[in-house]
Amino acid sequence: MKILVVEDEPKTGDYLRQGLIEAGFGVDLARDGLDGLHLGEQGDYDLAILDVMLPRLNGWQLLAALRRTRPDMPVLFLTARDLVEDRVKGLELGADDYLVKPFAFAELLARVRTLLRRGSRSQEPQQLRVADLELDLLRRRALQGGRQIDLTAKEFALLELLLRRTGEVLPRTLIASQIWDMNFDSDSNVIEVAVRRLRAKIDDDFEPKLIRTVRGMGYVLELPPT
Ligand code: CA
Repeated sequence: MKILVVEDEPKTGDYLRQGLIEAGFGVDLARDGLDGLHLGEQGDYDLAILDVMLPRLNGWQLLAALRRTRPDMPVLFLTARDLVEDRVKGLELGADDYLVKPFAFAELLARVRTLLRRGSRSQEPQQLRVADLELDLLRRRALQGGRQIDLTAKEFALLELLLRRTGEVLPRTLIASQIWDMNFDSDSNVIEVAVRRLRAKIDDDFEPKLIRTVRGMGYVLELPPT
């Protein structure tokens, strides 16, 4: 799941980005309205979090412009001003929710998840499953052989990606860009390490083994041929 954050206040922007990444989302951060618009028109975002008071293009102008190309993307507004007319204006322009600063991160995360759930209820599955492995996307929970497995946010995101594309060999470059938001650096073993940890949790003590390494290519999650 990818989120666009547009926030000019450096501390708030960094805090949002960091928190959302730790919660397992991919995040792009723009520091002004115009950059936000460019990103929003090009990227494939599942949700946008917009500050109202922004340089170059304010949050309302940005929302109005974004709605032309992204009519269905859920948008959460952030503002320091708790004025009724701001709220009404934002909602009229097509904001889906509104959060007044300062806010608790847990509150933001709850709103984000609700919006994503609402926006994706019809087309998206809420559980992914292969053999006895089950990933509950709403409760952010993994079960293997009926046992709950504790996963970090990154492990969850990696497993979700593998499960969504069951049977497909996923190159390391793709995994790196989707999960770590980085360009693949062949010297880095971050993906190998993460896959090893994930295997230790979902494959080592269970049969059949689901994650397979395809030498020189990447990783695939599938039922082994019988
Ligand atoms: Ca601002």
